[in-house]
Amino acid sequence: MLRTHTCGELRIDNVNNEVTLSGWVQKIRDKGGLMWIDLRDRYGVTQLTLEEGRTPEQALKTARELGREFVISVKGKVIERYSKNDKIPTGEVEIDVQEINIQNASKTPPFVIEDETDGGEDLRMKYRYLDLRRGEVRRKLELRSKMANAIRNFLSDQEFIEVETPVLIKSTPEGARDFVVPSRMNPGEFYALPQSPQTFKQLLMVSGFDRYFQIVKCFRDEDLRADRQPEFTQIDCEMSFVERDDVLDTFEGMTRHLFKSIKGVELGEFPRMEYAEAMSKYGSDKPDVRFGMEFVELNDVAQNKGFNVFDQAELVVGICAKGCAEYTRKQLDALTDFVKRPQVGAKGLVYVKCNADGTFKSSVDKFYSQEDLKAWAEKAGAEAGDLMLVLSGATNTTRKQMNELRLHMGKELGLRKKDEFKPLWVVNFPLLEWDEETERFHAMHHPFTSPLKEDIAKLDTAPGEVRANAYDLVINGVEIGGGSIRIHDKATQALMFKHLGFTPEEAKAQFGFLMDAFEYGAPPHGGIAFGFDRLCAMFGGSDSIRDYIAFPKNTSGRDVMIDSPSVVNNAQLDELGIRLKED
Ligand code: ASP
Repeated sequence: MLRTHTCGELRIDNVNNEVTLSGWVQKIRDKGGLMWIDLRDRYGVTQLTLEEGRTPEQALKTARELGREFVISVKGKVIERYSKNDKIPTGEVEIDVQEINIQNASKTPPFVIEDETDGGEDLRMKYRYLDLRRGEVRRKLELRSKMANAIRNFLSDQEFIEVETPVLIKSTPEGARDFVVPSRMNPGEFYALPQSPQTFKQLLMVSGFDRYFQIVKCFRDEDLRADRQPEFTQIDCEMSFVERDDVLDTFEGMTRHLFKSIKGVELGEFPRMEYAEAMSKYGSDKPDVRFGMEFVELNDVAQNKGFNVFDQAELVVGICAKGCAEYTRKQLDALTDFVKRPQVGAKGLVYVKCNADGTFKSSVDKFYSQEDLKAWAEKAGAEAGDLMLVLSGATNTTRKQMNELRLHMGKELGLRKKDEFKPLWVVNFPLLEWDEETERFHAMHHPFTSPLKEDIAKLDTAPGEVRANAYDLVINGVEIGGGSIRIHDKATQALMFKHLGFTPEEAKAQFGFLMDAFEYGAPPHGGIAFGFDRLCAMFGGSDSIRDYIAFPKNTSGRDVMIDSPSVVNNAQLDELGIRLKED
């Protein structure tokens, strides 16, 4: 028998038991006559003890040959520890070793395999299998597994059927570039990896499956911003005979269940906010509503007083930072530098201090009287002791800049608390988004999203104003999920493709299968997909999704452990009928 117990199992009640443990040597302390070894497996660490005169010679000899990360099995007796370690569950006992068998030797690992490690990110990724031995890393994947189980149970209980959809599919325009896979059997033709199973889940609704889900890999060939992965996991769901609120209620329920069962956090009702309101109040379609500091539009009180910058601006907008009137010159300069950073891109920042004595001090005193500034303060709900920060310019850009400043202030003032969770549904996104580069409209969500009924007439006259029956779930300023009620009739789907610039032939070539299916009795349907990696990261209290993926890729899309992507040999290319371009 290679083990009677795991390395995380033995307690004081086991004293005098004869046991066999197996695991990895984490640490060896050799004090001459006395020796301790920390033995680790997935479940914990148990201390082994050996002593000259007490421990059999053979065992002592073998112990002296050990190095870090050797795999061993030991036989011995559980004894009470003299100096106890209350930091680990096995800390009251140790094993008085009788016999050691080396199962496998190990080279000295390139970094320390403990929660606190000296290994940098690159090195840990190259030896990810060693990194995964660290408790801290493994616990993240344990959380992920627990969440996947909770999701499966919850959705199965609600009659959702888990269906696997194909990975080798056909290119679908969902905003990102497809990964393509050449087909040996069909030379010159390519599969695409799914950006999501969108059309398949809709087809399953046509098939009458009624409720579908899948925890599924999706692939997008995008430039990888800090927290993106080319392959990631979605909790993908679709429901038939539903309206928007049916979908939102169901997934609000799932989210609440997860928070309760996994984190012990009770979430209340999720507020629902129009996209347009989110943009005007927070300058973002994923506002962090853990704190207020809502935008206040100041055009009517700030314009036409001779300050050219504001007079020329489409939008003058402010936020009120409570209790910040005492900010020093240095702090205000730092805020100005913040908004002027290229990533934010504002030209400058106007401030108004609401002094304790009821007077105002601003960076634009030259143009505005105390009365004027009082009117701003009233509008912004700023009181004595508060600081107003004001930006101006074109509406959309200024809102984006103010969003950055608001989030920055929220962080500075400690208002974005890690242990507080504020969910929000953002609804009624625009259906179409104008793309300056290609000079045409793109679907903001995807081409299968239904317009709001009352807006359909505007498709021909003011396409940019048409709202979609689409929704995102946002928690603490992070987009956790998104979906929509779908188009389920051929005529509307064809109209949508037309507005996206497809000729009827192009639409047929790409989506004929879906449009055909819509002619055989497609039920009204809608759905949602959650970013599972991100949800796990949020539950684990981390900003990085990479930590929650067993074998992630780096920011260049490379797996540095298996060294992929990599070249393939000429024979493989020949077989695929592919010739590489020569530079
Ligand atoms: N397929 C969509 C996405 O990946 C989600 C949905 O509409 O259900 O964003």
